[in-house]
Amino acid sequence: MTHSTNTDQENCIFCKIISGEIPASKVYEDDETIAFLDIQPVNPGHTLVIPKDHFENIYTTPVMTWMRIQMTVQKVALAVKHATGADGVNVHMNNESAAGQVVPHVHIHIIPRHNDDGLINWSHNVYKDTEEMKTFAENIANELKVENGENEN
Ligand code: AMP
Ligand code: ZN
Repeated sequence: MTHSTNTDQENCIFCKIISGEIPASKVYEDDETIAFLDIQPVNPGHTLVIPKDHFENIYTTPVMTWMRIQMTVQKVALAVKHATGADGVNVHMNNESAAGQVVPHVHIHIIPRHNDDGLINWSHNVYKDTEEMKTFAENIANELKVENGENEN
């Protein structure tokens, strides 16, 4: 089964990093994944982890590839923290343009954070009432049943 067209991959900046066509500050590589510095870091040491195969986002990445990405993320997160003297790290992912995804090759951001870096992650909201919250929970649980091929009722 194909997961993307050749055109997607040919135009993909991260595929070009994998092939060596464009340079990157690589910090880690194994048979399935690589990690390199984000060229426009939130904080210095901001690192991206990507699979070597081209998949667009979280939905289309095969589970075994996803697991390998996460194994690399866990390893690199600690290295980024230690190497940058960070007080913490954000592990972040954007899926689809509505969520801020710009590069359509699945990637995880590892962002070193410092107690005094002044950054704010995002603001929080509230539900109208507990009924609304319950409805969201039920709808998501039902979607999961559909994904698992279970009956919705
Ligand atoms: P996203 O908004 O989640 O798609 O993030 C894409 C990230 O890729 C941004 O943070 C960019 O700064 C980063 N980026 C784009 N081009 C390059 C590149 N050639 N090398 C390293 N990072 C890049
Ligand atoms: Zn790609």
